[in-house]
Amino acid sequence: MENKKEKKGFSRLLELAGRKKKKLQTACTLSVFSSAAKLVPYFTIYGIIVTLLSSYNNVAGIDRNRIMMFTVVTLGAALIYGICAYSSSALAHTAAYDIIYELRIQLMEKLGRLPSGYFTDKTQGGIKKILSDDTEQVEIFIAHHLCDIAAAIATPVFTIIYLFVMDWRLALITLLPIIISIVLLIMCLVRPDKAALQTEMHDSQEAMQGTIVQYIHGMPVIKIFNRSLSAFKKYEGDIDRFVNAVDKTAKANAWAMAAYYAFFGAQLLFLLPSSVWLLVRANSYTDYLPVVLLFLLVGTGLKEPMESMMQMVILSGRITEGVNRMDAIIRAKELECGKKSEPGKFDIEIDNVSFSYTEGIRAVDHVSCKIPQGSVTGLVGPSGGGKSTLAGLLLRFYDPDEGNIRIGGVDLKEFSAEALSHLVSYVFQESFLFHDTVENNIRMGNNEVTMDMVIEAAKAAEIHDVIMNLPNGYQSVIGADGVFMSGGEQQRIAIARVFLRNTPIVILDEATAYADAENEAKIQNAFARLSKDKTVLIIAHRLKTIEKADSILVMKDGMLVGQGNHDELMNNCLQYKEMVDANERRDQWTVKKREAAL
Ligand code: ADP
Repeated sequence: MENKKEKKGFSRLLELAGRKKKKLQTACTLSVFSSAAKLVPYFTIYGIIVTLLSSYNNVAGIDRNRIMMFTVVTLGAALIYGICAYSSSALAHTAAYDIIYELRIQLMEKLGRLPSGYFTDKTQGGIKKILSDDTEQVEIFIAHHLCDIAAAIATPVFTIIYLFVMDWRLALITLLPIIISIVLLIMCLVRPDKAALQTEMHDSQEAMQGTIVQYIHGMPVIKIFNRSLSAFKKYEGDIDRFVNAVDKTAKANAWAMAAYYAFFGAQLLFLLPSSVWLLVRANSYTDYLPVVLLFLLVGTGLKEPMESMMQMVILSGRITEGVNRMDAIIRAKELECGKKSEPGKFDIEIDNVSFSYTEGIRAVDHVSCKIPQGSVTGLVGPSGGGKSTLAGLLLRFYDPDEGNIRIGGVDLKEFSAEALSHLVSYVFQESFLFHDTVENNIRMGNNEVTMDMVIEAAKAAEIHDVIMNLPNGYQSVIGADGVFMSGGEQQRIAIARVFLRNTPIVILDEATAYADAENEAKIQNAFARLSKDKTVLIIAHRLKTIEKADSILVMKDGMLVGQGNHDELMNNCLQYKEMVDANERRDQWTVKKREAAL
């Protein structure tokens, strides 16, 4: 359930902290005690000086007991400080780690409920930053700044009142540099462009991380073309953008921040000359000297708790912007699912469906067609024609902007997410294998199937023999101890997964990358076995693969430009005929080139 009233910024941070309210309240109280205990030595030193000065012309008459009492109080305060500071920090840290643990779980669960179309290379970098860096900022706020704020509010208030009672003139002078620095800080914080600068900092950092993901994915290609990092222009551009954002933010606040630090650290510069000036004019030098010493000691001690609060204020923009981004995930629109489980029939009806990634550019444009239950349908067309997008719509990676998709007469949106996952499987062109055992890579978390069923699926996908040749068979861990699989083998593992799932509808994306004869034959055999008694849609790149399909859909520029079997399309679909001719020319060209080489 989403929040009734969505909080933002600082109040949202406090709301997050509220998840461990009791622990943090105790931590803040202990922090106030520790901060107060830290100020005690300033007062006891003052007490000792007053005691010493009161007997300055009679050393033998110094009240030793009083000095001893101040010493004991100082030691006691040091002990209380140690215990309170340690306990406060320990409590605040455990609360903070509990909160970010829960927050990361909440984010991961939410990501699992978002449509797959949410995860592009661009968002992947941003998500990584939010899950690691931005949640870390919440930990820093709760574990460090929250208790500092409590201490910074409570202790100075009492100290300032005490200082005003002692001497209002010196109290004002003590506060003057602090007040000037607060004004300077507020000037930085209320800049009209502050929010825009923070947003650009986060945007550019996310863009940079997104490009890092792409860069790492594309490493083999970059290496093959012998390109260096600097040649990867997009990465360079994103780094420049981030550097510019940091530079702009730093320059925007430069003079005010420099002045802030200068004033904040300049208390003695204000206090020393004014106290000497007042001292020489005082009625009693010996009475006023302890007051001056008190201000020199306590006045400068006042700075510390306030400084940590200022640091928090400086960082607050960055932290709250990060929290807003976390909330953008938490509040992102989930797939709305119904409760239907089994449609009874498994034919697919695509009814006037349109979809755009970018407004105004349709990736799928008013497509209508029917795929009968138990039939094999090929989906062909030039690259960028909209084939993968149409397949993605069938899996609800995205929902159509217009039109409906039905399975067995039931709209996809009416199925529960689980029911849909039991209806449709997808064998991607690029199969992702986890750093886990081969068995778990085939099972994919399904503990209801037996080991025999896993083996049977692997045999049907023609990958069993390869697995048996691995050092530990099905228990070999992919990516460890030299266990690697070729692209074609990875795709066959993906096919084994689909065999095990045994869904009535299967979408296959034929891979062209691993087109060696042996692998191709094995994948075709596995596809044929997989297609038995199922409703199948094959995104085909080699037209030979689907020549015998019951029906073929031809897509171009997002539109369906042809539909029928091979013979029908050869007669009445120019686009299809051109593609078949181009395929034949390519095959002949390959043969001629080989002949020439002999
Ligand atoms: P095909 O599978 O036929 O090669 P796609 O469905 O991948 O075609 O692409 C159809 C159109 O949608 C293309 O113009 C492509 O650039 C665009 N497209 C595909 N994926 C995305 C995406 N994630 N964001 C924006 N545009 C996309």
